[in-house]
Amino acid sequence: KEKERASETAAATQCPFCSVQCTLQLVEERIVERRRYKAVPTDNPTSNGRLCLKGMNAHQHALHPERLLFPLAKVDGRFVRVSWEEALSLIVERIISIQKEDGVDAFAVYGGGSLTNEEAYLLGKFARVALKTRHIDYNGRFCMSAAAAAMNDAFGLDRGLTNPLSDIPLAQTIILAGTNVAECQPTLMPYFYEAKKNGAFIIVVDPRETKTAALADLHLPLKPGTDTALAVGIGKVLLDEGYIDEAFVCERTVGFTEWKQHIEAVKMDEIARVTDVPAEKIRLAARKYGEAADAIVLTARGLEQQADGYAAVRHWMNVVLATGKIGRPGSGFGSITGQGNGQGGREHGQKADQLPGYRSIEHPEHRRYIANIWGISPDELPRKGVSAYEMMQKIGAGEITGLLVMGSNPVVSSPNAAFVAKALQKLKFLVVADMFLSETAELADLVLPVSSYLEDEGTVTNVEGRVCFRPAARKRPGEVKHDWEILCAIAHKLGKGRYFSFTSAEEIFNELRLASRGGKADYYGVTYERLRRERVYWPCPDAHHPGTPRLFTERFAHPDGKARFAVLPFRPEKEETDEWYPLYLTTGRVLAHYLSGTQTRRSPALSARQPEAVVEIHPRTAKRYGIGPGMLVRIETRRGAAVVRSRYNDQIREDTIFVPFHWSGLQQINNVTSDELDPHCRMPAFKRCAARVRPVVDL
Ligand code: SF4
Repeated sequence: KEKERASETAAATQCPFCSVQCTLQLVEERIVERRRYKAVPTDNPTSNGRLCLKGMNAHQHALHPERLLFPLAKVDGRFVRVSWEEALSLIVERIISIQKEDGVDAFAVYGGGSLTNEEAYLLGKFARVALKTRHIDYNGRFCMSAAAAAMNDAFGLDRGLTNPLSDIPLAQTIILAGTNVAECQPTLMPYFYEAKKNGAFIIVVDPRETKTAALADLHLPLKPGTDTALAVGIGKVLLDEGYIDEAFVCERTVGFTEWKQHIEAVKMDEIARVTDVPAEKIRLAARKYGEAADAIVLTARGLEQQADGYAAVRHWMNVVLATGKIGRPGSGFGSITGQGNGQGGREHGQKADQLPGYRSIEHPEHRRYIANIWGISPDELPRKGVSAYEMMQKIGAGEITGLLVMGSNPVVSSPNAAFVAKALQKLKFLVVADMFLSETAELADLVLPVSSYLEDEGTVTNVEGRVCFRPAARKRPGEVKHDWEILCAIAHKLGKGRYFSFTSAEEIFNELRLASRGGKADYYGVTYERLRRERVYWPCPDAHHPGTPRLFTERFAHPDGKARFAVLPFRPEKEETDEWYPLYLTTGRVLAHYLSGTQTRRSPALSARQPEAVVEIHPRTAKRYGIGPGMLVRIETRRGAAVVRSRYNDQIREDTIFVPFHWSGLQQINNVTSDELDPHCRMPAFKRCAARVRPVVDL
């Protein structure tokens, strides 16, 4: 047996299931006919040799027998295998006919934050150059759009963390607002353990006592959707009690006086009433933050996926700016990215309003620069399109009639997803590139099989803003193609081959470097050769530049070098509870699953860990509605119903229920979430809507 085991191979790769991008060796043991795989963590400066449950088992989905190996076309309601030639001909024929009948903007593109930088870049270029459509957006709209818009407006630059993770243990106070690191980015937890060992005071803001909240010295269990008010309250205490850094405010910011006037008019008892957090607890949090020589505020989707998520982030930024706690070791702000390439995915032109390098699609100079790189006239570049959910609304209204989905599963991940599924069925043509027959792919006219993270060489940009190289670890199975190869092949058939003559991910990256040069997310100094040795922080404008771990040490990225305060109301959101829908429904993630679950639900180890969705409900609330532990519960909102099993949790607010969103079918909670959109960034209000519950007696 030992001799047989001698056939062991190992390949370096990176876990795709969150923004940390932990590195590992995938070891394959061949024992006679059988193959066994195990993931062995390797060292890198972000996760320092750690790997969580998801990383240990990530390979299972890539090796799953349900992987799509050939293009599939729907004929009479059933999928049949077709050749790539047939598939590409069909796509091109449908693009041409739809654009001729309904206009160029009638064909849209929907991308994803798990695509590599190269694929995200090429998808943006494909939409604008090959299709000439203005409609491209991606699932990152549901992830980072509130924080990204807020960072751009406040600091002039959107990078998830202003500081390296190694700064966390240097902070004396850490505020984690709406972020559950313990389940979403588990290998980052040791940074917080170390901070705690160094004496840091940790404050967690969350309606539930999450696994992350278990670490906290102070937990503020606010009413869902009231984060804006809480941040305003913290700002008020800092202002009233003299914690303002006047020198910093004067030298490095704009708009303090207006913010001060706004905050002075706020009453603490009103804040306590809106948030349902006692004023004394808010004061304690503010004092701990104000007293600390160095402190860090970190937010995430809990706070951002609200109809006023942008305002919530801006108000936390006001707190940071008013106290001058940014731009030095141990002091900064961050929004912790969720998706594997949530950072890079939004930098290179997948967003409706952006061109590569964070350039604006409406800015004449930016348009000229990118048009020049792409070899077209600026007049040929389409204008700004609509956001991800608005794209679905246009599909529902019949304005968009053709759609290419790449790296996303909007039928599960969109708000009010039952509407999205119905809208997609109205399309004249839906083509989906995926590894599996996802819920979205099942509705498609054509499905294209794509490579997994194990087979796809490329780069991703992690939570710290570090560009990371991920090598291909195994050969592609069947007739699987890389996403970028598919885009190039379609472009060639459309007669746009000269703009898409790439033969490797590295060639695309080199064009991306040029396109980003001089932009805010400048990758010009980052090369594959360099990335094979190190993970590089952007901005990195030339080959000799060391990269930029810590931002805003001397200047913010606005032309005058100053950050902006924001004056925004802390209005209660529109959807409120009433006698018919008396509970708040909030949603989120669990340790064992990733995004819409297309991949993790196919991993036996991860699926076994949590095979189904559960509704976390306070025992007193559950008893009020006759719901026992483990019982099936019907959750109804103003949009529809979902059915999941109950799990008692005495650490959740009695007026709130929590359901993770990784499942489809009856358990799909996004079928009932709210599609109210933040007016600043078009983030949907996933994190709060009104609901009612009752036990299921008969399915
Ligand atoms: Fe690392 Fe995130 Fe993968 Fe866990 S899910 S192994 S933390 S990259």
